[in-house]
Amino acid sequence: MPVPDVKSGRLSSAEIAENFGDLHSPLSRPEALIEADRCYFCFDAPCTTACPTGIDIPSFIQKIRSDNVQGSAETILKENIMGGMCARVCPTEVLCEEACVRNTHEEKPVNIGLLQRYATDPIFHSNTQLFSRAPETGKKVAIVGGGPAGLSCAHRLAMLGHDVVIYNRDEKLGGLNEYGIAAYKTIDEFAQREVDWILNIGGIDVRTNVTLGDDIHLGDLQRDYDGVFLAFGLGGVNALGLEYENADNVLNAVDFIAELRQAKDKSQLPVGRRVIVIGGGMTAIDVAVQSRRLGSEQVEIVYRRGASQMGASRFEQELAQTNDVSIRHWSTPIALSVTDGLAKVEFERTRLDAAGKLQMTGETWAAEADIVFKAVGQTLQLGSLGEVAATIAQKRGKLVVDEERKTSLNNVWAGGDCIFGHDDLTVSAVQDGKLAALSIDRHLRGEEINNG
Ligand SMILES: Cc1cc2nc3c(=O)[nH]c(=O)nc-3n(C[C@H](O)[C@H](O)[C@H](O)COP(=O)(O)OP(=O)(O)OC[C@H]3O[C@@H](n4cnc5c(N)ncnc54)[C@H](O)[C@@H]3O)c2cc1C
Ligand code: SF4
Repeated sequence: MPVPDVKSGRLSSAEIAENFGDLHSPLSRPEALIEADRCYFCFDAPCTTACPTGIDIPSFIQKIRSDNVQGSAETILKENIMGGMCARVCPTEVLCEEACVRNTHEEKPVNIGLLQRYATDPIFHSNTQLFSRAPETGKKVAIVGGGPAGLSCAHRLAMLGHDVVIYNRDEKLGGLNEYGIAAYKTIDEFAQREVDWILNIGGIDVRTNVTLGDDIHLGDLQRDYDGVFLAFGLGGVNALGLEYENADNVLNAVDFIAELRQAKDKSQLPVGRRVIVIGGGMTAIDVAVQSRRLGSEQVEIVYRRGASQMGASRFEQELAQTNDVSIRHWSTPIALSVTDGLAKVEFERTRLDAAGKLQMTGETWAAEADIVFKAVGQTLQLGSLGEVAATIAQKRGKLVVDEERKTSLNNVWAGGDCIFGHDDLTVSAVQDGKLAALSIDRHLRGEEINNG
């Protein structure tokens, strides 16, 4: 009789340590200077336009060239307070580096991500505070969620002299920087060091293990604070809609990743020998690659569309392939069964019709696995956030905001993954927090809010 092969200790602690080391080695000084020299310092730099936080990229690269590393970090962090994390996790190949004019000359952009890391790393190593608070205004803002959007908003508001209280469901701040991002992208507790550095500015009071909808309510926050910023991310996960999807070895990828990120000893995590991942985004790649690096022998991602439609970037897809993860396109799960703990997934092949719509072909295939990961997207569960939150204008289950990140409710702003139109990137969440803080500040100072 088949038995599921799920166990811990597939690899030694030394092998795990090597597999979960830094994905990209940081640049040395000579390497950084050579790379900085490749920049043309373009006027109207397209890389800056492509950066969601609008970092003046040629300016920070110029400062690296003149050995003004702290000045370079300041240029980065004043636009993007999480410039350290973004240097590690941004899909630069589809943002600043895709726009770099060096691509047209030699198909190799300036390595902006690693230069940004070179500039910002010393700030976090030495815990140097670059920003200070304006005189206190006496105004108080509540922030729900201490992930990238909430922390970015909190820091900017604190800089502008307002007092902030962050309410956070999880034990630790950082959101998915702490509980989601692949472990080899942010090693050595970088996420918490960055959080500590952000809080060091002062004026930010943190209340963890507090959940909106259970422990606190939006109506009360509106009454007790001068403004409220909602940045609670996406709490729920999409389901496959199949029987057995809650079986013991059919797991939500995000839950497993959170467990992995918090594990003191990764070699003790139970890992399947054969793993199937259903999905095509960053989460699918992350759970697949990390499973391989934990010792799974056979990992296959199955996605219902083609490579170019995957949410994961080209770099992420290549990362999967170089980690011996196979990616099978054009198949969607239609049935799931679990016998004696062993999962069997039946897939149906798909194709696009002439109008570009996904069609089922009737052709099926099946595969067995010890663990099946569901990575088919996250959702916002507004119902659980209380009656007042549920009245905020929504589109496709997410909060609608204007350009300043203001919601339809009085004195309530929102940003990050929970808003409609968000691209589910750390850098965009940081930008939302910054824009909301600037809008809240204008509002608190009594200036007209321009919704245009
Ligand atoms: C597995 C995975 C890998 C990813 N990898 C990358 C990557 O490599 N690069 C990249 O740019 N992006 C990546 N992302 C996306 C990125 O992490 C998110 O876009 C970003 O974290 C969103 O920030 P946020 O502040 O909106 O929400 P979150 O980071 O989700 O933070 C939300 C915060 O709100 C708190 N909260 C939730 N509900 C409540 C409540 N009811 N009351 C109070 N507090 C609450 C939580 O405790 C949490 O701290 C990844 C996402 C996932 C899931
Ligand atoms: S586009 Fe490339 S070359 Fe031009 S300023 Fe930006 S990084 Fe430098």
